[in-house]
Amino acid sequence: METITVIGGGIAGLALAAHLDPDRFRVTVHEAREEVPPVETSLAMWPEAQRALDKIGILPAVRAAGVDFGRMALRNGSGAIFVEAAARGVVGVSRADLLRLLDASVPASVARAYGRVATLPEQGLVVGADGVHSFVRRSVWGERHGARLSPYLALRGIVEAPVPPDGGGEYWGRGQLFGIAPASRSRTYWYASFRSELGPGHVDVDEALELTRRRFLGSAPAVGGILAAVTPPATLAQRVWTVPSPGSYRRGGAVLVGDAAHGMTPNLGRGACEALIDAVTLAELLNTRPLPAALQAYTRRRMLRTQAVRVASSAMARLALAEDVVPVRDRLLGLPGRAKRAFRQGGR
Ligand SMILES: Cc1cc2nc3c(=O)[nH]c(=O)nc-3n(C[C@H](O)[C@H](O)[C@H](O)COP(=O)(O)OP(=O)(O)OC[C@H]3O[C@@H](n4cnc5c(N)ncnc54)[C@H](O)[C@@H]3O)c2cc1C
Repeated sequence: METITVIGGGIAGLALAAHLDPDRFRVTVHEAREEVPPVETSLAMWPEAQRALDKIGILPAVRAAGVDFGRMALRNGSGAIFVEAAARGVVGVSRADLLRLLDASVPASVARAYGRVATLPEQGLVVGADGVHSFVRRSVWGERHGARLSPYLALRGIVEAPVPPDGGGEYWGRGQLFGIAPASRSRTYWYASFRSELGPGHVDVDEALELTRRRFLGSAPAVGGILAAVTPPATLAQRVWTVPSPGSYRRGGAVLVGDAAHGMTPNLGRGACEALIDAVTLAELLNTRPLPAALQAYTRRRMLRTQAVRVASSAMARLALAEDVVPVRDRLLGLPGRAKRAFRQGGR
């Protein structure tokens, strides 16, 4: 039996452990935290990620725990809609629920170890599933592959009220964005982002929330309503970090998955989705091919796609959080809506 040590029992690490062939591999998952994160947040699961969840066997449970996004609207800072589209097949699921379901699908044969890993094992395959600040990436690829601090602060949480009528969507203002989406039929997931010097390590939630309330004062009523209902204990505030391309996702006896490989800004809502697809792709290759061929095929299949998503996500962050070009951006974004209205009027 070959040995696989997975460092990081988050979304990528658990999904990998759940899908590896237990008859072929002796697997240990090391996880720094003992419990799921205390502040509840939500993740958008796109259809490709749902296919990965299906392969692990937990898609029905994720769908039952989650909520269909329905329609998604992109709005300006005051709430007027630029574009609205059906978010076909996108499911919002609580991160804690997803982690619990993934955890429960890991076979009992997989060994668990709790605590932060500070030395790499010398034998077997090491999988860096340890997130954006990956110890595996820094140890094997070198310190110059450390995470990069973005200028953005991100806050998110859940409020115990349904999405305000005609209030859902993402609001793009001048240098700031606010998102409102269903967390369930009766609860709302919200997030906000803007440039800030807070942190970069620990961010004080009270201070971040206070700053957010000041920044969004006078913006759309739905945003004001959500911010009035938000409490610090139910809010997560952090600076956004990204990961430069490591060139290849495999080096020697180590391989990277998830944020450790391609940590990106959250603007496309794809990081966890790509982490799940990485994990399932890697597990299937390891289950069916000799180790070197599996690792080579994994980096070939996943590198281009995930790096493209990472770059696109940063571009989206720059557009959504633009400051100087807002009038031009808003004019361009408003064009499809204006064209549609003109077409309808012309047809009458
Ligand atoms: C504001 C925000 C909103 C987001 N929204 C979405 C969304 O809607 N949809 C989406 O797909 N993605 C979203 N993402 C991205 C998503 O959160 C990440 O891409 C995802 O969590 C990556 O999973 P991972 O398992 O690779 O890493 P992580 O979730 O970071 O897990 C890494 C795990 O490794 C453990 N660990 C770290 N170091 C060590 C060590 N040395 N020893 C042992 N254990 C260790 C950690 O405790 C952690 O549990 C968002 C991100 C942010 C910041």
